[in-house]
Amino acid sequence: MTEPTTVTVERTLVLVKPDGVRRGLSGEILRRIEAKGYTLAAVELQHATTEVLAQHYAEHEGKPFYAPLVEFMLSGPVLAVVAEGQGVIAGFRSLAGATDPTAAAPGTIRGDLGRDWGLKVQQNLVHGSDSTESAEREIGLWFPNL
Ligand code: UDP
Repeated sequence: MTEPTTVTVERTLVLVKPDGVRRGLSGEILRRIEAKGYTLAAVELQHATTEVLAQHYAEHEGKPFYAPLVEFMLSGPVLAVVAEGQGVIAGFRSLAGATDPTAAAPGTIRGDLGRDWGLKVQQNLVHGSDSTESAEREIGLWFPNL
């Protein structure tokens, strides 16, 4: 097998959602990203706008959880993060765990720190991009100057 001569450094967009910021878990979530060996390329506390959220969650428009999701994402600041590293897109999703925090495995962010609060939307602490294309699109949305 030939050794690769260049390593593609991948980037992903992570959001600590309003429940994570409110519960004081931003530091713990950043710690887990760094402990895994990924690099923080940008970190910014932001108030989401309906315009950015409409684009960010465009694929979910029309679903029953869409309106409560947008309302939840506007309910407080989010910590927007760009993390870098080999395989970081899949790697962060693995760190985050399953969408439903009740089902998420122990050891994951959602499994260790999240739970079902009986609300209309899964308050599951974090977002992580799910592909190279969505990562670049989402980084452009949340960090237009990066
Ligand atoms: N969501 C929800 N109910 C559902 C599915 C999704 O409230 O039945 C919310 C949840 O906050 C989730 C977000 O919508 O994180 C985006 O859904 P997606 O399927 O993309 O999950 P993720 O990629 O965040 O795991």
